[in-house]
Amino acid sequence: MYGYTGKILVADLSKEKTSVKELERSRAKKYLGGVGLAASFIWELTDAKTDPLQPENPLIFVTGPVNGTGFPPTGRFAVCSLSPLTGIWGESHSGGFFGPMMKYAGFDMLLITGRSKEAVYLAIDDGNVELRSAKHLWGKDVLETTDRIKEEMPGAEVACIGPAGENLVKFASIQVCKYRAAGRTGMGAVMGAKHLKAIAVRGENEIKVYDVDKFVALVEEARQRYTKERWGIAAQESLGKYGTTSLVEAEQEIGRLPTKNHSTGIFKDFDKIGGEAVRKYVRKKRKACMGCAIQCKYVAVIDAGEFGGTITEGPEYETLVAFGSDELNSRLDAIVYANYLCNKLGLDTISTGKSIAFAMELSEKGLINQSIKWGDVETMVKLVEDIAYRRGFGNELAEGVRNLAAKLGAEAEKLAVHVKGLEMSGQDGRAHKSIGLTHAISVRGADHLRSISCLDELGYVDIAKERYPEDAKIILDLRSEKLKGILVEDMETNYAIVDSLIICKYGTMWPPIFYYSDYARLIYYTTGFKDYQKPENVRKLGERICLLRRAINARRGITRKDDTLPYKQLHEPMPDGPAKGEVVHLDVMLDEFYDARGCTRDGKPKYSKLKELGMKQVGDALAKEGIISKEH
Ligand code: SF4
Repeated sequence: MYGYTGKILVADLSKEKTSVKELERSRAKKYLGGVGLAASFIWELTDAKTDPLQPENPLIFVTGPVNGTGFPPTGRFAVCSLSPLTGIWGESHSGGFFGPMMKYAGFDMLLITGRSKEAVYLAIDDGNVELRSAKHLWGKDVLETTDRIKEEMPGAEVACIGPAGENLVKFASIQVCKYRAAGRTGMGAVMGAKHLKAIAVRGENEIKVYDVDKFVALVEEARQRYTKERWGIAAQESLGKYGTTSLVEAEQEIGRLPTKNHSTGIFKDFDKIGGEAVRKYVRKKRKACMGCAIQCKYVAVIDAGEFGGTITEGPEYETLVAFGSDELNSRLDAIVYANYLCNKLGLDTISTGKSIAFAMELSEKGLINQSIKWGDVETMVKLVEDIAYRRGFGNELAEGVRNLAAKLGAEAEKLAVHVKGLEMSGQDGRAHKSIGLTHAISVRGADHLRSISCLDELGYVDIAKERYPEDAKIILDLRSEKLKGILVEDMETNYAIVDSLIICKYGTMWPPIFYYSDYARLIYYTTGFKDYQKPENVRKLGERICLLRRAINARRGITRKDDTLPYKQLHEPMPDGPAKGEVVHLDVMLDEFYDARGCTRDGKPKYSKLKELGMKQVGDALAKEGIISKEH
């Protein structure tokens, strides 16, 4: 098959067996790859009762047809499973070199089930697969584990867990090439529960595309757009110079920089942790994922002081917020060090930082018997380690904000900033209404990366006029709830396609220079799937993936009541800044979104829509379990 290796590696760790399964053409055509392909397996292999930390929960490493083909930027891959943090669909993405190398090693997807009696790692070497003992690696951190495996398998790309994953911290990450992370939704804990310490991949398999000439011309066109067109040039300059760190300044300007556990959107010391400060004090060298000319990543070095000698990659915007403004911490060196520790121990920086910010507010309000002061970097650093090793109060935080709040009661729950159990990323719906809806409806919990719109956030006027000619003015209004259901549904559909291809959102969606007709050409030239020559069929593909993930969640009890926002954003007006006085009026946006998405007003997929998208079997299964009615 063009664009694919055509092979899935199946590993049953309980039986210590591996086998190779063919990737069915019909399945690839229907769900493409990436999160779409993974969702099709999670739907089939799990049910309402599957425990995310038990052996039967599948852990899936997945690429898309474009990975490894030379289309920039495609160095990414996804890890999907049921999440131990949220109990629902879990999905996390990482860049680096691992994704393409997995295909060069011979596989589009790794499907891992069971639990090994003793620690193992999976070595995949040009189609040859071996389960190797990892007893010598268990207990080691990410940096040492990666180095040791690379000694045993030179030239391999390594994805591994650290102590946090071994200790089943609910938001443990899987670290890739040491400093890249599949961080969100606790995929590292799923790996730890399977006693799988690492996966190493190496190979030279060639990935063929269907129409080489047109594919090459499209690569050149994408490059031209990115380097010659106005929006592309601006983004290139900004990402190349600052990565995502300059978002600190941008979000402060619109009053959307989460500060003091999301109490406000304004941080008085924003300039001490923003893009300019990062450039001046810690940023040393640009880095990139495989084949990417944008190079948004960077090496950070702390030259002197308490954390002097630290060398790491990042932090990115989200980490600057999680360990900076949200904890009222203006010490950039401490943020860089916390980021380094999370990478080393295998922790998601967003959930870790946000859990500590929550603890700081609990402490201030006297709701816990701990002294954890705002901006206290010594305590912050200690808590990162305590979470990874589940020591003392760190053990409570290791269960995530939602679980801790539920133990402490109603007052604590009002302060807990999460959706569906996932700690919120660095945005605030009060200052940007469509991101409020994005966080509320995201299938993996409070998250911007499934449907954030940069049209209204950054003011892409021309593009908004092209896409929504009648409604561009309202669509672009940051503070209006009107038409945001339409916008977010369209964005979620786009992201589902991008995350199934899998291509980076930079250079395609930020700036928003790729849309359905572009994906149509890319999919067709890569795979030869004729149906996808038509942009309307590409849109349907995105809808199918969105509804399948929603069906997985519906089967696990998710309804409209879960598509909500933290108490502060619904009930406490923004206290200052440009969005002063704003709260999120969610219901009107939710109704509009559900209608556009093809869901009932209770947030579940409509049977008729599932049928229209060729998913009758999914509809029948949900109807049989009494989750939806065939009448809708
Ligand atoms: S833009 Fe950044 S994250 Fe995306 S592929 Fe390039 S280096 Fe990786």
